[in-house]
Amino acid sequence: MMNPHTPTLSSPHHLDFATSLTQWEYAPAPESVRPEIAERYGLFINGQFVEPQGSDRARSASEEPAYFPSINPATESTICEVAQGSAADVDAAVQAAREAFPAWAALPAKERGKYLYRIARRIQERARELAVLETIDGGKPIRESRDIDIPLAAAHFFYHAGWADKLRFAFPGSRAGETPAPLGVCGQIIPWNFPLLMAAWKLAPALACGNTCVLKPAETTPLTVLRLAEICQEVGLPKGVVNIVTGDGRTGEALVNHPDVNKIAFTGSTAVGKKIATTAAGTGKRLTLELGGKSPNIIFEDASLDQAVEGIIEGIYFNQGHVCCAGSRLFVQESVLDETIAKLKVRMASLRVGDPLDKNTDIGAINSRTQLNTIKHYIDEGRAEGAELHESTTSVLPDAGYWCRPSFFTGVQPSHTIAREEIFGPVLAVLSFRTPEEAITRANNTPYGLAAGVWTDKGSKIFEVASKLKAGIVWLNTFNKFDPTSPFGGFKESGFGREGGLHGLRGYVRC
Ligand code: NAP
Ligand code: MG
Repeated sequence: MMNPHTPTLSSPHHLDFATSLTQWEYAPAPESVRPEIAERYGLFINGQFVEPQGSDRARSASEEPAYFPSINPATESTICEVAQGSAADVDAAVQAAREAFPAWAALPAKERGKYLYRIARRIQERARELAVLETIDGGKPIRESRDIDIPLAAAHFFYHAGWADKLRFAFPGSRAGETPAPLGVCGQIIPWNFPLLMAAWKLAPALACGNTCVLKPAETTPLTVLRLAEICQEVGLPKGVVNIVTGDGRTGEALVNHPDVNKIAFTGSTAVGKKIATTAAGTGKRLTLELGGKSPNIIFEDASLDQAVEGIIEGIYFNQGHVCCAGSRLFVQESVLDETIAKLKVRMASLRVGDPLDKNTDIGAINSRTQLNTIKHYIDEGRAEGAELHESTTSVLPDAGYWCRPSFFTGVQPSHTIAREEIFGPVLAVLSFRTPEEAITRANNTPYGLAAGVWTDKGSKIFEVASKLKAGIVWLNTFNKFDPTSPFGGFKESGFGREGGLHGLRGYVRC
């Protein structure tokens, strides 16, 4: 049970508090909703769930299996099987989207908006089921899927429903009263860190602008996107307007290579993004890329340190650090470095790692064994390069599943691998600086440019620093805040194009 005399982090007793955490327990609060899950899911093409082509062959011959398991990373058990979409399946999905396009684009915009509203409402109505499924499939804490992923996914559909019949006001350059034309068929590929939310980011603006879509979810987290397909059926969305083709990277590649796709919208790693850019070059396909990051979180000596420590925690440990814009490089002004590190240790020790379906859990399971191995590799690398690892050992980790304790490194040099490369896990690199100029130079010394955080009490410093940071988003005295009205996207190797807000619509119309 919670200690009734819990001191605040600014209390002089905070180190006693850290010690007392070892005896400090919450009563378990497991989520009680149990969604129905079929043994196997097909592909969603032309408004129906269909078996993948080649499934008959695969059952009889020694060919590639037509289904693959989706695993619960907190237990390592198989949840169900999901179809491996082939190039032929992708072709069928693109054809369905192409056939649906003229009627969908010609639909009065107000009617298109109504479908988006209905999808948003249905996501809200099925929110608990979607949240549980997101957590089972991907490992993220139920607190996050329930309070962040699913409400934000609904918010994206609501927001874009509002735009559907107002597009002619969105682009000042277009001729008065003329609604910009949609692009056609959009191929959309998303990663595993925010599965339903990323699907909403992609589908909602595309549909609002009158496009039709073929979306490929990530291999490890297809389940909520398949529920979204069910929702499309429930709201009576015309056949072929949304198609979902599950599978691995090869399915994504087939979508990128398909000649009848007008636009590719990709969110994922920089390596795959570069490959896609090369393939799409010269084909006439439109392209937007939301890629990786190594975002700086900068703490000045005049910041409210307790608040800043919350921002550091939010920046790097939210969603196990599986966040493209994670504040994974922490820059602290030298005069407050020791105090910040002391406070960070205490706060980190209070994070609970464990069962993602427990409402008290702060840090759930790492999404896959592959990702866990990647994170471990970086931790080993950090140690080998001479940085010092500080790890929270408060939680007792479950026996099965993929787990990683929250940690941070001190004694990090800008040249260290952990300060340069994206780890995509709950591992923070702490660096220091003396002057605002040094903070800016060090923060910008990266091939990425997705996000940044600045913590200071001085309004003048906010402007001075924020305007010089090369990042798509700069958060001031906060971190990891998302809203459908606010455009999101990167510079440099973090990609190009924006998602969300007015700017996000531009990627889905001819203008
Ligand atoms: P990834 O390996 O690039 O995969 C992303 C998606 O692309 C998955 O659906 C993947 O399928 C598919 N894919 C893989 N190879 C492909 C290919 N050759 N052609 C077409 N599609 C292909 O990235 P990830 O490891 O899943 O996700 C983590 C990365 O995404 C991180 O770098 C993170 O920073 C970035 N991210 C960026 C943003 C942003 O908005 N900037 C948001 C979230 C994540 P499989 O699932 O089968 O691999
Ligand atoms: Mg899974």
